[in-house]
Amino acid sequence: MANVSSEAEVQRLARTLYHKAAKHKPSLFEAQDLLGRMIDWSLSDESLRVALFRFVDVLPSLASSAEIGRHLEEYFARVDHALSGLAILAQALRAGTLVAPVVRRNVIKLARRFIAEESGDHLITVLSSLRKEPAAFTLDVVGEATVSESEAAAMQQRYLDLLRRLAAVSAKWPACSQIDDSPSGKIPQVNLSVKLSSLCARFDSLDPNTETVVRARLRELLREAARLDAAVTVDMEQYAFHDLTLTIFRGALEEDEFRERPFAALALQAYLKDAEKDVSELVSWARRRRRRVGVRLVKGAYWDSEIAWAKQKGWPIPVFLDKAETDASYERLSRMLLEGHDVIDAAFGSHNLRSLAHAIVAAKEIGVPVNGYEVQMLYGMAEPVRQTIIEHGQRVRVYLPAGELLPGISYLIRRLMENTSNTSFLRQTYAEKKAVDILIRAPARAKPAEQAATESSELPGFRNEAPVDFSREENRAQFAETLQRVRDEFSKQRRRINGDWLESFNPADPSEIVGRVRLATIADAEQAIDKAARFFSEWRDTPALKRAETLIKAAEIMRERRWRLAAAELFEVGKGWREADADVCEAIDYLDYYAHEMLRLAEPRETQQLPGETNTYLYEPRGLAAIIAPWNFPLAILTGMTAAALVTGNCVLMKPAEQSPIMGSHLLDILRAAGLPDDACQLLQGSSELGARLVRSAKIHLIAFTGSREVGLEILREAYTHREGQQHVKRVVCEMGGKNAVIVDNDADLDEAVVHIIDSALGYQGQKCSAASRVILLEEVHERLLARLVDAVRSLKIGRPEDPRNALGPVIDAVAQRRIAEYIQIGRKEAKCVLEMAAPKEGFFVGPAIFRDVDPRSRLAQEEIFGPVLSVIKARDFAHALAIANDSQFALTGGIFSRSPAHIEQGRKEFHVGNLYINRGITGAVVERQPFGGLKLSGIGSKAGGPDYLLQFLEPRTISENTLRHGFVPPERLKNS
Ligand code: NAD
Repeated sequence: MANVSSEAEVQRLARTLYHKAAKHKPSLFEAQDLLGRMIDWSLSDESLRVALFRFVDVLPSLASSAEIGRHLEEYFARVDHALSGLAILAQALRAGTLVAPVVRRNVIKLARRFIAEESGDHLITVLSSLRKEPAAFTLDVVGEATVSESEAAAMQQRYLDLLRRLAAVSAKWPACSQIDDSPSGKIPQVNLSVKLSSLCARFDSLDPNTETVVRARLRELLREAARLDAAVTVDMEQYAFHDLTLTIFRGALEEDEFRERPFAALALQAYLKDAEKDVSELVSWARRRRRRVGVRLVKGAYWDSEIAWAKQKGWPIPVFLDKAETDASYERLSRMLLEGHDVIDAAFGSHNLRSLAHAIVAAKEIGVPVNGYEVQMLYGMAEPVRQTIIEHGQRVRVYLPAGELLPGISYLIRRLMENTSNTSFLRQTYAEKKAVDILIRAPARAKPAEQAATESSELPGFRNEAPVDFSREENRAQFAETLQRVRDEFSKQRRRINGDWLESFNPADPSEIVGRVRLATIADAEQAIDKAARFFSEWRDTPALKRAETLIKAAEIMRERRWRLAAAELFEVGKGWREADADVCEAIDYLDYYAHEMLRLAEPRETQQLPGETNTYLYEPRGLAAIIAPWNFPLAILTGMTAAALVTGNCVLMKPAEQSPIMGSHLLDILRAAGLPDDACQLLQGSSELGARLVRSAKIHLIAFTGSREVGLEILREAYTHREGQQHVKRVVCEMGGKNAVIVDNDADLDEAVVHIIDSALGYQGQKCSAASRVILLEEVHERLLARLVDAVRSLKIGRPEDPRNALGPVIDAVAQRRIAEYIQIGRKEAKCVLEMAAPKEGFFVGPAIFRDVDPRSRLAQEEIFGPVLSVIKARDFAHALAIANDSQFALTGGIFSRSPAHIEQGRKEFHVGNLYINRGITGAVVERQPFGGLKLSGIGSKAGGPDYLLQFLEPRTISENTLRHGFVPPERLKNS
């Protein structure tokens, strides 16, 4: 169905508007100064465009002219564009002949065209001149991301102050009917756009506190807006925030005091595939509640990021991939909103004259008066378009960012990228001068086949298991229910009385027994080894395809049981919801990935093709494998090592950690259910003595171990000791600990660094081999980052992991709790404690601690603590930071936050770790994507989840055969060679 009955009328109007608007260029496309000219150039050169925007993005963090010069050189050296002017500028800056203020002044000038300075008179001047056009406004507050409670409270205060200040100023403005009147009366002159994520330390739909805290802060804003007769518009951010934003918005307006006032609106994004559902639900809701609400319809500003995030997680892509599809959706939604004009005040946020003409014509057809809806545009982006729409008699509202100019740059970059991208109407109109007929034609829908082809993110063969998306209510409900069910089940279990049993308890409440397993005796171990030895030849001779199929079947079963497995893990080792789910996903990945890998390696290959001789290279299993696993990834690591041994044809003696025996039992169940023969994999539950016994056995060929450095080295020593009757040298795959460092450069994006450091350091209470435990800060960012980090950590809650309010749970047991407490004591002597949080008394909890001025050689900085303890170390410069980072016996993971291409390059070469992460968190390696394992005393194996891993479980053999018989060479051979 068409959205308007007269497409011709839409085109007529769009054409008229276009001809008026095209007479003048928007300032965005006017090359007035150096940066203006650079934007101009960048339109014709994609690599320059990227370099330019990245440069402007890093600029606010650069303190000196030399730094600005260095970055200019680094960014633009890669651009194959004749930018001689830039090169001279860069050299001049580095040499100090030109001072940084020149460049900064240019950028400030540029920023002022798009952002109003909040302090001083600039904001009021901009607003007054807008009203003269006449254009209304909505104010968007730009600045740093909110990462702590104190920042959230400060942000709320800033919103309140702005409301009051603007209300006072607006009292003096003369009324202007075009922008102040609507069919239902006067509309507020003051309109504030609010990002809900700025109102709490971390906007996370999994945490029920987010809703409570944000609602409380929003309530105060709405109350003040109602009192001052101002309007509040809630912005829509990334898709991960979408459901919760809608819930909070509606929830707040359902409160009695906001039944009618203030004027409140919500932004909705037409690029979302869900948008139609959202609009129809919102309209019905508003009708039911008899509550007028505004809706700002935009196309959406996070398009590229949404696609990247969804692909990285393996989630369905929430946005339309085709721009025309979004434009078409925009038109459908425009109509739906206008048809709901009894309760909806529609606002059309776009610079696209076709989209706007469509909305105007649709409004006329439906009978919505011209002041019954409005058009919104970004400040500084499209002045001639704005002027044209105003002259057409519409109400135009300008979305005006306000704040400090330099920190507001990241806002600016997003907008500039959006409005100068290939698909932007402004770029096509003013820079590319596309024919008007093309610009204003009805958006064509992509053909279904094209859409499907571009949308498929499937890898052939192996594909990572997607984590659960907990931003979806139905998933949160399902996991909560599963937790209850799993708990009911284990609480009904009876206490065993005869034989030796190992009880597994909940570290958050040690009185809660989550399960019991029978302990294996040394005699059991010997028997199991003999059984495995007898079965080995049969398993070895089972075709690789069959072994691989068994693993793939096991992966399927694990997938079916994933919710229960994650729930069991949460109770057994104290992992939070996301962490427990991620461990199950990783286990599924190992089963699938190694199955695929084995098929690659299974076929013998001919080394060279010669007449008269065959030379075959093939792999065989080693024999009996002891798998000795840790408790911190109780399913994934155990599964990974076991799957690798099994699929390569080895028989397995599997020993989970004594702290996580239940996850070991689950794995065995799954392998059995997948049809794995009993003797191919036997489970031996027990402690270190049992492990040691397996290691020493002369009948074991291979040991795959993951755990601490001490035990790893002990195992290596024992394994390489020859024993009576042993006819082979054992092979050891040994992954050990880490003392991982994250370097934060002077030019780093601190918003990102803070969030990722917290995730990396405190995820699962710091009990990951990959966890960040040393943060090395360069001098200029040291104080600022540390202060934000401490504040952000202070905002986290500690408690039982089944309650998703808690970001931190317990540590694994009393021994760990004591050891970590001892390190905190040591830290107090060696360094300065800047944060030590309290923790619940019951259960094995430890409050996170942060130390500053840590000596890089001190115990705190050198020893693996395996808990929520963070050492902050100051470095003079980047080279010094790298030297500190490398000064460790461990070399597992490492991270760099920097926006200097040269430093990133230097880090790639010189930061000596197994897994280096740049401008992201340093934990959570994904199978195949980030093969994982350390160097130095962190490990000797080839990387888990990588292409070389299985080779360690195999022995290569070469077989050469003479095929000549009395001078006769098989004819095939002669032809092929
Ligand atoms: P751990 O070394 O104490 O125990 C690991 C396993 O070894 C357990 O099953 C244990 O029973 C067994 N074991 C202990 N002593 C033994 C011995 N003498 N002979 C044979 N087996 C023995 O480690 P953990 O506390 O379970 O795990 C935490 C450690 O694991 C940390 O140091 C962490 O960094 C490391 N880890 C490393 C990786 C990696 O990929 N590099 C991954 C996870 C954990």
